[in-house]
Amino acid sequence: MNEKILEVINLKKYYTLKRTKLFEKPGAVKALNGISFSIHRGETFGLVGESGCGKSTAGHTIIRLLKPTDGEIIFNGQEISKLNHQELKRVREDMQIIFQDTTGALNPKKTIEWILNEPLRAHGVEKTERRKIILENIELVGLDTSYLKRYPHELSGGQQQRIGILSALILKPDLIIADEPISALDVSVQAQILNLMNDLQDKLGLTYLFISHDLNVVHFFCDRIAVMYLGEIVEIAEAERLYKKTYHPYTQSLISAIPGENEFIKERIILKGDAPNPLNPPTGCFFHPRCFKRMPICDKIKPEKVEIEKDHFVRCHLYGKEIKI
Ligand code: SF4
Repeated sequence: MNEKILEVINLKKYYTLKRTKLFEKPGAVKALNGISFSIHRGETFGLVGESGCGKSTAGHTIIRLLKPTDGEIIFNGQEISKLNHQELKRVREDMQIIFQDTTGALNPKKTIEWILNEPLRAHGVEKTERRKIILENIELVGLDTSYLKRYPHELSGGQQQRIGILSALILKPDLIIADEPISALDVSVQAQILNLMNDLQDKLGLTYLFISHDLNVVHFFCDRIAVMYLGEIVEIAEAERLYKKTYHPYTQSLISAIPGENEFIKERIILKGDAPNPLNPPTGCFFHPRCFKRMPICDKIKPEKVEIEKDHFVRCHLYGKEIKI
């Protein structure tokens, strides 16, 4: 599992806001503020954080639904951050996305067969071959051919997500970006979809970038996890290690807030306030206004990423070199 399938280097996505006054400098929302990580072939890499932390923006920028402001995205050895529309078409055969909102992702006016045809048609697969591929693959996601003539509204949420997954798989990609794929589903269906994704990974050798706000789910499903806060990654580690030996105060607070009892929760940490506005982020460490371990340096200097143990990275002054202020 050592071959890198994806390498993201200092990726930034800024949104420039319209000026409200003449001669005013336009503001920018820094949705991604220079994130870096890599994913190895065959692994499931989790991106986790509160709503608005930039994790979905990261997924959408990596697959180039959004144009990066800066940084590099190296996929299967090719730098794709600046490719044009035509060049991206080839890349999308190998990198696909599953969305949270299947209602929006599946065209309500078209049959399931038409929807599954769409990615094949877009990549120039002949009509007879398209039908053959769909018939061969529908059972992969636990459905049969009787579903092909139905419309999305005739399917349950779980069945719709199965079609979303098949639509992403149909071109046989290497990497799937799963953007909160189970959070819109009933709890009873969530486990079924995760088990299906696990089975498909084993059968097809897939690699997942799994985006979620749910610390329980990423612990169960991911091999390694990156924790995001306000457009930055604050901690990355192998999943089991992250929960057993949590360094960053923000990660500690997220794990402490997992509902119910579990071995990782030593005390409940209640964070003060909401995440700051990314239009006007705090100085120094972005987490300092809410941090229960804040020090005098924290609002003045941004902490560097340090490797605190092998393959365990953290961005916090508690673990950096001492800096005189
Ligand atoms: Fe808390 Fe300071 Fe570490 Fe930021 S750098 S997480 S404010 S201790």
